[in-house]
Amino acid sequence: MYKFFQEQLDNKINNLNLRTLTEYCPIDAVRVRRDDKEYLMMASNNYLGLTFDERVIEGAIKGAQQYGTGSGGSRLVSGTFPLFTDLERELAKFKNTEKALVFNTGYMANVGTISAIADKNTIIFSDALNHASIIDGCRLSRGSVKAYNHCDVDELKYLLKEVERNTRKLIVTDGVFSMDGDIAPLDKLYELSREYNALLMVDDAHATGTIGSGHGTAAYYGLEKEVDIQLGTLSKSLGSVGGYVAANSTIIDYLVNMSRSFIFSTALSPADIGAALAALHVLESDTSVLRRLQNNVNYMADCLNSIGIYATNDTPIFPILIGSNEDTLTVSNYLYNAGIIGTAIRPPTVPVGESRIRLTVTAAHNKEQIDYVCQSLHNALKQLDS
Ligand SMILES: *Cc1c(COP(=O)(O)O)cnc(C)c1O
Repeated sequence: MYKFFQEQLDNKINNLNLRTLTEYCPIDAVRVRRDDKEYLMMASNNYLGLTFDERVIEGAIKGAQQYGTGSGGSRLVSGTFPLFTDLERELAKFKNTEKALVFNTGYMANVGTISAIADKNTIIFSDALNHASIIDGCRLSRGSVKAYNHCDVDELKYLLKEVERNTRKLIVTDGVFSMDGDIAPLDKLYELSREYNALLMVDDAHATGTIGSGHGTAAYYGLEKEVDIQLGTLSKSLGSVGGYVAANSTIIDYLVNMSRSFIFSTALSPADIGAALAALHVLESDTSVLRRLQNNVNYMADCLNSIGIYATNDTPIFPILIGSNEDTLTVSNYLYNAGIIGTAIRPPTVPVGESRIRLTVTAAHNKEQIDYVCQSLHNALKQLDS
C-alpha cells in the first residue's frame, strides 16, 4: 500500500525536488534563529515588517482578551464577533468597494470565490502564471478554463473573441505575480472585460501593502470602482492570517450564500482579526512604513543592478533566475551558509528550467543587510560560474 508513496517521493529526491520543513525561530520581522545561528530572512512576504510591530501585537492580545482564543463556529452559525464587522467595513473602505468578506486564508478566498462564481456555463480566462489557489479554484468550479500566456492581452482578446457573447465569463489575474514580481496589465484587462462582457477579478495577495500607495493593483491603475472583485490576504503585508474579497454588495451577499470555503469552515480567531485590523490601521495612518519599504525596494534594485542582475523597483519581489534545480540549490545553500535565507523555488511552483531564488525585502530590513545579501549573492553566482 505504501509503495506508491515511496516511489513518488523517490522521484522527487532524484529530481532534486524534494521539499522538507525547516524550523526557524523568529527573532524579529527579518531575523530568525536556527541551531544557535542567526539568519537574515529574505524569503518572507511580510513586506511591511508588521509581524513584530507593537501596535499589531497589541491588536492580537486585545482580541484574545476581549473575545477569547477561538471563534467556536463558522461565520454564519456563531463565529462573527464584532472585530469581523470592523475589519470588513475597513477593508471595503480601503479597497473603495461597497462591501468586503473575510475568509480563513487567501487560498480559501480564491477557491471559494472562483468555484462559487463560475458555474458550468462560465468560461474562466486565467493568466498562465496565476497562483496555485486560483488554479485550484478553477478546478473546483464547474466552469471551463482557458489559460492565456503570461500578461498576453492580445492572446486573451483572441480567446475572448472566440466565445459566444452570452456565455458567462470571468477574467482572473494575480495583481503582482508572486514568483516574478511583475504587475498585471489591469488597465488593458479591464478594457477587454468591458468589451467582451466579462467579470474581472484581481488577486492582490502581493499588491496590498506594496503598490497603489498600499491599496493594491486596482488603486495603482485608478480602477477601484471598475474592477469587479478585489481579493487579497491578511497574511502577507498585514502580518496576520486570513483572506478577503472586496466587491459590490451583490457579489458579497452571493458569496456569503454560495461560497463553500466560507460557509463550511470555522471563523478565524479574535487574535488573528485583531492583528489584521491593527495592521490595516498602521498601513492607513503611518506613512513611514510604506516609505521605508519603497526606500528598501529602490536600494535593493540598485544593489542588484550594480552586480549585473537586472532588477526593477516596481515591487519588493526580486526573482533571481538560475535555471536548473541543482544550480538553484547550490546558490541557496551558499546563501544559507552565509546566514541568509533565500529559498530555492522549483517546479511546480515555477515552470521546469526556471528555478530561481526569490528574494524579498521588507520595510524592516536595513541598508547594511541589503548590501550583505547582494554581496553574498554576487559571490554565490561567481562560484557557480567557476
Ligand atoms: C499567498 C497567495 C495566496 C494565498 O494566500 P494565503 O493567505 O497565504 O492562503 C493567494 N494568491 C496569491 C497570488 C498568493 O501569493
